[in-house]
Amino acid sequence: MEKPFTFRDRLNNWASRKIPVKRARSRLTRPLASVTFDDFPKSAWTAGGTILRGFGARGTYFASGRYCGIEEYGIEYYDADDLRAVHAAGHEVGSHTFFHRYVPEVLSRDLVADARRNAEFVRGILGDVTLSSFAFPFGDVSPRTKLLYSRLYPCCRGIRPGVNAGVLDLAQLWAVPLEVRHWTAEQVEERVEEARRQNGWIVFFTHDVSETPAPYGCTPAMLEHALHTVASAGMPVLPIREALREATGA
Ligand SMILES: [Zn+2]
Repeated sequence: MEKPFTFRDRLNNWASRKIPVKRARSRLTRPLASVTFDDFPKSAWTAGGTILRGFGARGTYFASGRYCGIEEYGIEYYDADDLRAVHAAGHEVGSHTFFHRYVPEVLSRDLVADARRNAEFVRGILGDVTLSSFAFPFGDVSPRTKLLYSRLYPCCRGIRPGVNAGVLDLAQLWAVPLEVRHWTAEQVEERVEEARRQNGWIVFFTHDVSETPAPYGCTPAMLEHALHTVASAGMPVLPIREALREATGA
């Protein structure tokens, strides 16, 4: 569920986009792609993970502790076994906060406690795992939260559309939606071509993967199309953490 988009949200999102916080010049000598799943609906693994495997690709699953083992608004979310399975299959588990709140409305000290709680939650299931990638819940970013999360995680992903090339902002990577509500094959193909031309890094984001997805999820065919398009462009698909290492040496 989304809250109404207020003027303050608009201002925060605009300012965050305009103010780079963690700049790094890309060292990429080849274009890369990443596929990320926010909230970790179960189908992102059962359907999405199967499709990724078919392309020899590994993704990043942004997990929020509060979704573990629940069903909400008709979406079934991951459980502890799913989290173990994606980790064992070589996918990355990233953080999406524990409570999945509109973080610009939450005090910084509470956000730091929430980040710690999510890390402890994942460690409780996977053992000694560090969450090094972060996605903003609802893609909602303010200058304050952008700065805060850039200090907590090596790499943060937003939802503003674009390809990461040249000087990257690791506090808010540009991303390309695979969301059924406003998806076209042409837009995906244009973005992939843009990344290919610039030795850029294209980061897709979606939620559930189903023949009847939520408005912000995708169908299996949409995910296959994105993977087929990047494969045709000769672009490997890596989890955020590994793509970051290649892009920055970090
Ligand atoms: Zn989310």
